[in-house]
Amino acid sequence: MKAITADITTLKVDAIVNAANTTLLGGGGVDGAIHRAAGPALLEECRGLGGCAVGDAKITRGYKLPAKHVIHTVGPVWRGGHSGEPEMLAGCYRRSLEVALEHGVKSIAFPAISTGVYGYPIEEATRIAVATVREFLKQNEMQMDVVFCCFSERDLAVYSKELS
Ligand code: ADP
Repeated sequence: MKAITADITTLKVDAIVNAANTTLLGGGGVDGAIHRAAGPALLEECRGLGGCAVGDAKITRGYKLPAKHVIHTVGPVWRGGHSGEPEMLAGCYRRSLEVALEHGVKSIAFPAISTGVYGYPIEEATRIAVATVREFLKQNEMQMDVVFCCFSERDLAVYSKELS
């Protein structure tokens, strides 16, 4: 596991994870950036998926992206932390990794799911992200390169602290 600062749409990995919404039909933030970079064929494939539940994940091709696949997951909206948000956020990371494993993905990049428009506090979200990925890799005894792709130096500092 490592953390970097980058635009996730530029990463040449087997899969990038999209912080989507339940419709999977595009949105703002990282979702908008991924759809813009992948081109309209991504939206076409997403239309056929029938949406995605919070905490679940679905895979598509990457189209014009350098990444081979996009794994679309839906994070919880932050409502104060007592409405199941931690379990749902952990589900995003776990389900994304399960889907990745099923498709032979050896390298994957995650954005900081739910910490943008959905308002999840970065420190708490980062703790869950790192702990869930660590646990998954341990339980599955597997080799997968996991990149936490931060969009600001501030987020990178939080991830670096959590990973050390
Ligand atoms: P959510 O609705 O799950 O909160 P957002 O897209 O609003 O999703 O934000 C999730 C995270 O993705 C935020 O940390 C945001 O800064 C980051 N982000 C936005 N655009 C990009 C990008 N192109 N590459 C990587 N991270 C991005």
